[in-house]
Amino acid sequence: MEKTNRNASCRCGSKKKYKQCCIEIDEKLNEFQRQGYPIPKSSLLKTIDEIEGIKKSCQLTKKLLNDLNDIIKPGMTTNEINNWVHHQTLKNNAIPAPLNYKNFPKSICTSVNEVVCHGIPSEYKLEEGDMLNVDITCILNGFYGDSCRMYEVGNVSNEASQQSKITKECLEKSIQNITPFTALNIIGETIENHAHKHHYSVVKVFGGHGTGNKFHEDPFIYHYKLNYKQMIITPGMVFTIEPMINEGTDECIILEDGWTAITKDKKLSTQWEHTIVITNSGATILT
Ligand SMILES: [Zn+2]
Repeated sequence: MEKTNRNASCRCGSKKKYKQCCIEIDEKLNEFQRQGYPIPKSSLLKTIDEIEGIKKSCQLTKKLLNDLNDIIKPGMTTNEINNWVHHQTLKNNAIPAPLNYKNFPKSICTSVNEVVCHGIPSEYKLEEGDMLNVDITCILNGFYGDSCRMYEVGNVSNEASQQSKITKECLEKSIQNITPFTALNIIGETIENHAHKHHYSVVKVFGGHGTGNKFHEDPFIYHYKLNYKQMIITPGMVFTIEPMINEGTDECIILEDGWTAITKDKKLSTQWEHTIVITNSGATILT
């Protein structure tokens, strides 16, 4: 942690002096660092104003995902969903973050059935029984709001619906189990335990990420158990948790478009995602 003048105004934007505000956080972090835990750079700890901006962007993302509940129907193409979200994003004075990000050609990701993530909207017509994931990231006033969820297209099988439900529970339980000033390990542990209990596998090659001021920031959020010490969860951090849970193998293949990730055995993959902010008492869902 960088040295800060004790009498300077605090970096968090509280208008208090540092010695009466975040110095307490930094002292705790220094102790964890001595114990061998990675700690966040101060740039990863958002100011009060930044959190306010990120919150607004996340609320827009959430609204668009909510609205899609009434829009997604069998026979619709994933391009039509993309175009609807694109225009609504612009109408709300925001920008779709995926468009042109590392040459991604569309404004959202649409991942159907065996597609794990990063599916590209196309002329594919949704069929009755499809499991669709829509992943939206808005940029509003420079701040990022990232979330995804599953949509059941018409009537889906009980098995598919159950897998989606357990995936959502993995996300929710991992958020509930977050305590500030513990290590990020708890997230992967919670997700893996719940998924394995229901005989699903957890995708390892993709994870959550810090976000807010940029699309992808540190740290990488692992959705599975790790034995080494991960970063200390600190008030002011903003990151996504976005478990991808598979019916069969956790192994993925990337298609020739360079983006679309599918399960190696072509079995169902489901994903739910929130952006969260760490507070003094836990985690608050922003999306
Ligand atoms: Zn402060």
